[in-house]
Amino acid sequence: MTNPSLLILPGDGIGPEVMAEVRKIIDWFGAKRGLAFDVSEDLVGGCAYDKHGTPLHDDTMAKAQEVDAVLLGAVGGPQYDNLDFSVKPERGLLRLRKEMDLFSNLRPAQCFDALSDFSSLKKDVVAGLDIMIVRELTSGVYFGEPRGIFKEGNERVGINTQRYTESEIARVARSAFDLAMKRGKKLCSMEKANVMESGILWREVVTEVSKEYPEVELSHMYADAGAMQLTRWPKQFDVIVTDNLFGDLLSDLAAMLTGSLGMLPSASLGAPMANGRPKALYEPVHGSAPDIAGQGKANPIACILSFAMALRYSFDQGEDAARLEAAIEKVLADGLRTADLMGPEGGTPVSTSGMGDAILAALDASL
Ligand code: NAD
Repeated sequence: MTNPSLLILPGDGIGPEVMAEVRKIIDWFGAKRGLAFDVSEDLVGGCAYDKHGTPLHDDTMAKAQEVDAVLLGAVGGPQYDNLDFSVKPERGLLRLRKEMDLFSNLRPAQCFDALSDFSSLKKDVVAGLDIMIVRELTSGVYFGEPRGIFKEGNERVGINTQRYTESEIARVARSAFDLAMKRGKKLCSMEKANVMESGILWREVVTEVSKEYPEVELSHMYADAGAMQLTRWPKQFDVIVTDNLFGDLLSDLAAMLTGSLGMLPSASLGAPMANGRPKALYEPVHGSAPDIAGQGKANPIACILSFAMALRYSFDQGEDAARLEAAIEKVLADGLRTADLMGPEGGTPVSTSGMGDAILAALDASL
């Protein structure tokens, strides 16, 4: 049997630094848990532009379509700010998302106990929080036509169109129900059915899809009420599914309940491939952090947690994903802190590679 394949795209800035730590973790799972991957590495973003004159070479795009999962670091940097829009580093990432048709964006909000003081909310509101927001990523108001700035009489009018087809809603709903089945079997769908027709259709289609998942408890909430409930008592939720616009806002809100940008992973999933695995891109939420690049200060945990998501959602290795998350929890509980995690209570300062090595040691201790 061949090993599952993983394409690694470290990208720019701190991308290669945090990815170097992920490579150590991948090697550990190969050596100690018999989970070997066929790993290949390529360029994306500014470094791809420097070499090929494009932020994503066609050969890299083709590879991304073939592998079982793609793991990306981050793209961008001030040296690329003046490039033409069509070759900006971010265009590489957008091309990957678009051509792989990654319609389901998974953003967990998980609060590690040792970091519960980092939240702007009270400790008891966030301690132990573990929820997942599923955001529709390829349709809705960011893509709907007509769009543009038009002249109407003697003033300009800006237009964007919220548009969803039934099949677009149904496929992201299924992805959220599948996830709920792997978690707490509770799904809350958020829209604005009180004021938007697209919201009425969203609610109807999600309700229809729910008949395929009788074990999952489905609830509906208006997205504005959802924002309030997320800050009031976020632990009432398990999985939330919502559209592109509301998901953009709610996933940022939920993620920051838990503290630092250096801790936040994400996954973007598409339709199942011939082998049953979904097309998948895993990446930390943070950018290339040019202000700290090359200084060994970056927190690698967001990228390592993105690999944990790959273990769980692409490779069905939930137990090993939990083992990796527990190793991270242990290292944080022991007080190890990269600079971004250094709060008023202090801790033991560690570099990017120091954090990676400590997680490896905790993994060793877990055997
Ligand atoms: P950023 O996420 O790169 O950085 C914001 C702040 O958070 C900075 O102070 C940075 O030092 C800190 N930070 C981010 N990740 C960290 C980590 N892992 N450990 C410790 N500190 C961390 O956002 P930005 O500064 O707005 O953007 C910088 C560049 O990244 C831009 O070129 C932007 O376009 C790009 N960007 C890329 C992505 C992506 O690749 N997905 C996402 C956002 C921004």
